[in-house]
Amino acid sequence: MTQATQLQTKSAATFRALKCKECGEEYELKAMHVCEFCFGPLEVAYDYDALRRTVTRETIQAGPHSIWRYRPFLPVETNQPIDVGTGLTPLVRANRLARRLGLKNLYIKNDAVNMPTLSFKDRVVSVALTRARELGFSTVSCASTGNLANSTAAIAAHAGLDCCVFIPADLEAGKVMGTLIYSPTVMAVQGNYDQVNRLCSEVANTHGWGFVNINLRPYYSEGSKTLGYEVAEQLGWELPDHIVAPLASGSLFTKIYKGFREFVDVGLVADKSVRFSGAQADGCSPIAQAYREGRDFVTPVKPSTIAKSLAIGNPADGVYAIDIARKTNGNIESVNDAEIIAGIKLLAETEGIFTETAGGTTVAVLQKLVEAGKIDPDETTVVYITGNGLKTQEAVQGYVGEPLTIEPKLDSFERALERSRTLERLEWQQALV
Ligand SMILES: [Zn+2]
Repeated sequence: MTQATQLQTKSAATFRALKCKECGEEYELKAMHVCEFCFGPLEVAYDYDALRRTVTRETIQAGPHSIWRYRPFLPVETNQPIDVGTGLTPLVRANRLARRLGLKNLYIKNDAVNMPTLSFKDRVVSVALTRARELGFSTVSCASTGNLANSTAAIAAHAGLDCCVFIPADLEAGKVMGTLIYSPTVMAVQGNYDQVNRLCSEVANTHGWGFVNINLRPYYSEGSKTLGYEVAEQLGWELPDHIVAPLASGSLFTKIYKGFREFVDVGLVADKSVRFSGAQADGCSPIAQAYREGRDFVTPVKPSTIAKSLAIGNPADGVYAIDIARKTNGNIESVNDAEIIAGIKLLAETEGIFTETAGGTTVAVLQKLVEAGKIDPDETTVVYITGNGLKTQEAVQGYVGEPLTIEPKLDSFERALERSRTLERLEWQQALV
């Protein structure tokens, strides 16, 4: 590459180091994720003075219709990131769900329709693969509970990178097909996610691949900050009062928080204390358990829940999520599988949004918090829906009824309609008893 083209494609980098979250030690911006002194996780540090000088609401709004409008806040050097239209998903005012729950100002951040693979993971992967390319990786990889494999395979295909992903062998069919279609190498590991993750750490050491959520994790996780930026921008450059988000590793939760804080720090929004509440499934709730018991450490569990995308038994950012929930006067709750299915149906029936089990978990926890008086009806509350229900159809099979099969004749239709109305009346009467 000539110097001139380098000048064209490189911009003034606003990220300056990798910094240990525990001891503060700083490192060069390479592919590493653990502090060599204290084994704490590394995080990207920025030059906020430079951001304050150069970024305004107007420069952001003049940017692309994707997460890359926030590029100065993301850890990449290039002006030409991998942009597959990821981000700027709808922030929907959820009036019918709000009325059902007794709330007044409820919004859904709908990443069930994020591009290209219908989950929030497209945000983190767009950032990770752009950075992987800058660091010279030609093969990218991940340890995934499903959505991340979809996203890594799809965006690697778009970018022309070789891809090998690792998933637990018992994943939902939609998530396996949603990966295979892009023709990566798919390793279905006979074990749970935590075992997949341990295997991948070994492969990362021996094969020199770019694992988006292992050696590229500090860059990757920054992509989740865009879920904070977008909500602030879509609320008219204001922060909400309360957010409810799912907890798997806990990373998403901490990065929404970081996104809000950065927008305050550089003067893009007014300061406000935002309450952070997290959602887990009973069958994998190490963070909720620690929170409930007032602990500062998370005890790993063996997951058993239909919410497979949240089934991380040893969550890397669990303690940081607990810290944020406590200091913002939020909460961390968990719900059982029946409540998760009810949550999926409630969101679909009131708002027309079909979410996967993680979203059902989040909606069910929202409901539980409202019933316990832990959400003020007047608060502007944003619920993060992070994935699409078409990928986890197994979870709701048997709970959504059947179509009415009829002959192609008007009288057959009329009879069926009458039957279904009678059935509805009966159900309604039973509900009243
Ligand atoms: Zn350290």
